[in-house]
Amino acid sequence: MTDELNGKVAAITGAASGIGLECARSLLEAGCRVVLIDRAEDRLTTLCEALGPHALPLVVDLMDGSAVDGMLDQILKKTGQLDIFHANAGAYVGGSILDGDPNVWDQVLNLNINAAFRSIHAVLPHMVERKTGDIIVTSSIAGIVPVVWEPIYTASKFAVQAFVHTARRQIAEHGIRIGAVCPGPVVTALLDDWPKAKMEEALANGSLMQPKEVSDAVLFMLSRPRNVTIRDLVILPSTVDL
Ligand code: NAD
Repeated sequence: MTDELNGKVAAITGAASGIGLECARSLLEAGCRVVLIDRAEDRLTTLCEALGPHALPLVVDLMDGSAVDGMLDQILKKTGQLDIFHANAGAYVGGSILDGDPNVWDQVLNLNINAAFRSIHAVLPHMVERKTGDIIVTSSIAGIVPVVWEPIYTASKFAVQAFVHTARRQIAEHGIRIGAVCPGPVVTALLDDWPKAKMEEALANGSLMQPKEVSDAVLFMLSRPRNVTIRDLVILPSTVDL
């Protein structure tokens, strides 16, 4: 399955933790060079040293629009090419809209929507010029069905799904594919804010997945032959309480 990926160059945002880190590991194992993008500089440096010479750290704060615009140049300086871009970084906010903090909403929406779209826009010229490239976006099951206790997060991932659906046709004519991976709950730092009781219940009833399950799904998507469209892929644990 992964022969397709040997020798390719990938860049992943939010790669210093959770799903992004696991995707980086899987792509490295599949023979890719991987640029790990994150704002957590110390963690990124330590991780890349441990992951080996094909793991290349790039410190970017995705909330900084000009840094995102300049990201492609930074990637190309390290690798000379980019075959796969994974817009993965995201943040979570749950709770009721009645007592939510609009400043936190802004941060989540800016990262999950604006930074994701802007980073894809930033790397597209290189892919258009080469007439090839694959883009993966980490969406969520919350982008497919509304999750009642997380209206802002759900809104952000519905926006991601709308973007992926519309972008797919626009970029296909340039030989570029895009697909969203839409996981249910995954054990990562993103869920640190979940109430303790909710986390314990989820762990007990088997409704949490491991990051490796998501990276396996991403590898499957990226390994599709080039004449096959990448579709969105929902990956769920055995039970999900939405
Ligand atoms: P995580 O918190 O483990 O990792 C997120 C990473 O993004 C961190 O390394 C963090 O430093 C980085 N990051 C945050 N803000 C940044 C910024 N401004 N600039 C650069 N980097 C920044 O989270 P995760 O669970 O691995 O989440 C990855 C993606 O998966 C997100 O888009 C999330 O919405 C999605 N997702 C997560 C779950 C889940 O249950 N964990 C489920 C479905 C979808």
